[in-house]
Amino acid sequence: MAEVILKAGREKSLLRHHPWIFSGAIHHADENIALGETVDLLSFDKEFLARASYSPNSQIRARIWTFEDEAVDQEFFRKRIRSAIQSRDARGLRRDTDSYRLIYAESDSLPGLIVDRYGDVLVLQSLTAGSEFWKDTVTDILLEETGLTTVYERSDADVRDLEGLEPRVGVLRGTIPPLPLTIHEHSLIFNVNFAGGHKTGFYLDQRRNRLRVRELAKDKDVLDCFCYTGGFTVNALAGKAKSVLSVDSSADALAFCKENVVLNQLDETRHIPSRSEAKWTILEGDVFHLLRKFRDEGRSFDMVILDPPKFAPTAAHAEKAARAYKDINLFAFKLLRPGGMLVTFSCSGGVDEGLFQKIVAGAALDAGVDAQIIEHLSQAPDHPVALNW
Ligand code: SAH
Repeated sequence: MAEVILKAGREKSLLRHHPWIFSGAIHHADENIALGETVDLLSFDKEFLARASYSPNSQIRARIWTFEDEAVDQEFFRKRIRSAIQSRDARGLRRDTDSYRLIYAESDSLPGLIVDRYGDVLVLQSLTAGSEFWKDTVTDILLEETGLTTVYERSDADVRDLEGLEPRVGVLRGTIPPLPLTIHEHSLIFNVNFAGGHKTGFYLDQRRNRLRVRELAKDKDVLDCFCYTGGFTVNALAGKAKSVLSVDSSADALAFCKENVVLNQLDETRHIPSRSEAKWTILEGDVFHLLRKFRDEGRSFDMVILDPPKFAPTAAHAEKAARAYKDINLFAFKLLRPGGMLVTFSCSGGVDEGLFQKIVAGAALDAGVDAQIIEHLSQAPDHPVALNW
């Protein structure tokens, strides 16, 4: 087994089970370690610390597979994958949906590997040299353990570049059904194009929050900003909102959103008796611009949803992102009627919850609104967050 020896004192993070080693912590690495090969991480005193995958091109030079002195082989991955699947089953997800995240990288002790299940198709993202090294093995195990036959690869995230990996997209095993695929979630249906959409096609992590919007939307005039393929829009309509205005800058996303609304027979043209009052509109445009325009026009809403893309992928972008979050939240507050509700999110790794709360508080203050936090929404239970970071 190839060996990597850390500088004196740099084992501390590993003793807390942090799953990464940065290049600056390394004292010595054996020569000619292959991309993604498994190595032993040793302390400066040559004590075994962990077994990890090696990424020679990345600042994150090693990612931990295990802190135990155990073999990293097919059986190792089978155990980890089985445990991830069992934990999803135990969380009762199958009652709510046929589509959920089966494996969530470091949170399931499988760095670099993300697997989403959409109906009977598994969509795999391999993001690191280590997950790439074991991709074939892992793919076979996934099929054996789920009893499914199709795996589609969506390894086209930019982070692969940092690992020295080319983007890869396409069928890994089996045959994909005609797209889009129709998935079920909390008794609604959505068309998902896992071959072409953002991430692996649908924001599965927002599942519970979509349901919460459904519960809260009754009789409200709702503005759904950054609506993408209509996750919140469809739920607001299903919750008998009085009206929903769905905004996105992407015409493709809006076409999909429309399809999803129609699919659930929630639009006026279908004349669903209980829904005939609902007014639903889509609008293509830039949210930053439109919020100002609505303010100038004196428009107002009972509920504004802000679910923007990632403004700060890392802490380095936090300041610029903070300005962007402040801007949209401020204008959203201005559009709210008295007693109205802002449903606001950040998915930026570089902006933690505390900072986000401060930004939103600042936005409320500048908008001249006395706001309260009614509830904290978070990611769905198939997207656990590891505590050892
Ligand atoms: N709320 C969605 C996910 C949002 S993804 C859901 O629950 O499924 C972010 C969306 O924001 C994308 O659809 C993207 O097209 C859109 N977007 C990005 N920048 C934008 C901008 N400045 N104005 C409007 N839409 C934008």
